[in-house]
Amino acid sequence: MNYDRIMIRYGEMSLKGRNRKHFIHKLKKNIQFMLRDFENIQIESGWDRMYVVLNGEPVEPIIGQLQKVFGIQSFSPVIKTDKKIEDIRAAALHIAEQVHSPGNTFKVSARRTDKTFEYDTNGLNHAIGAHILIHMDDIKVDVKNPDLNLMVEIRKDAAYISGQLIYGAGGFPVASSGKAMLMLSGGIDSPVAGFLTMKRGVGIEAVHFHSPPFTSERAKQKVLDLARKLAQYSGSVKVHIVPFTTIQEVIHKEIPSGFSMTATRRMMLRITDEIRKRQGALAIVTGESLGQVASQTMESMLAINAVTNTPIIRPLIAMDKLEIIKIAEDIDTIEISNRPYEDCCTIFTPPSPKTRPKLAKMEMLEEKVDWTPLLEEAVNKTETMMISARARSSTDLESLL
Ligand code: ATP
Ligand code: MG
Repeated sequence: MNYDRIMIRYGEMSLKGRNRKHFIHKLKKNIQFMLRDFENIQIESGWDRMYVVLNGEPVEPIIGQLQKVFGIQSFSPVIKTDKKIEDIRAAALHIAEQVHSPGNTFKVSARRTDKTFEYDTNGLNHAIGAHILIHMDDIKVDVKNPDLNLMVEIRKDAAYISGQLIYGAGGFPVASSGKAMLMLSGGIDSPVAGFLTMKRGVGIEAVHFHSPPFTSERAKQKVLDLARKLAQYSGSVKVHIVPFTTIQEVIHKEIPSGFSMTATRRMMLRITDEIRKRQGALAIVTGESLGQVASQTMESMLAINAVTNTPIIRPLIAMDKLEIIKIAEDIDTIEISNRPYEDCCTIFTPPSPKTRPKLAKMEMLEEKVDWTPLLEEAVNKTETMMISARARSSTDLESLL
């Protein structure tokens, strides 16, 4: 009698009354996708629980995959039995014996959704606890801090018994709340911003500005590798690579150096917004964090943001660098981000960009050039690729759309 299924508990999404059906459907699809390598599993979804029926597939790697699925609060490998006290006791005893080492402590935490069941929760705790104490040596009850917490759930259809509670990634199922364009550089911040946005249920497409020959193929590859890390949470991520050299050269030539960084950001935002419209996305995500660099002062953000009314999501805005690095380590993007590369912005960044650019002055300076054809050309020559989570080598995934 081994664990035969995994019981999945929904997180916050269970609060979302009206959208719940949609969330559950999306979560099921996402789980199916994440577990696509396990051919024999089946997924049963219900109003407040989902089950992955293992059908002989191994439990450990499935646990590893489920930990990456947003919208799961917690999950437990369980044994399902009939609602007969003998069967429930036997399953609980089996679990206790499997994980036992001498001197261990345990408790039983029973729950009933089926209030008609012959035992109430106290009665169940005692009936199962006594059975374990009778059949096992060298085990004691500790209700405060047990080594093993035997969870028994009596539901309408059956009883579920488990000795393990694993926390999920939380949040909402990816792509259950629309789509946003992530401005993805090769730095530490923007992948973290993408991850946090996906966690809130938003689907992501990445936009990257590339300025060959000033930025190399390596710099581009870095962004594709970062996109692949993010694709782990959604299966795949579309990446738009925007050729940005011409615009940067014109800025360099025509805009006074103190304003060139602000102008660069404004052009990036305009282009991203146009791609967003074409892709039917609802917002733009950046890795900006207040005060980090010249472009991220309040004045700079006002001057940059003025080119669009589209909502801009800045998940890192109030975070310290160390907090951001911690997340980058957790999601395993930090090593890629730390690879040396040339950033298209730093190459053209003047020694002293204005930290308080005035919007009116910026707008006046921009008037010198007709940017529209330049922006259109950049958008039209944008190269779009689908990066899948699965591809291991960089050569077998660059499928041009
Ligand atoms: P990051 O670590 O994400 O590069 P940063 O702290 O280096 O951020 P900036 O270089 O000022 O800050 O960039 C701010 C934000 O602008 C980035 O987080 C990213 O969202 C966007 N961005 C910067 N450079 C690019 C680029 N080449 N392509 C796409 N987006 C970019
Ligand atoms: Mg950067």
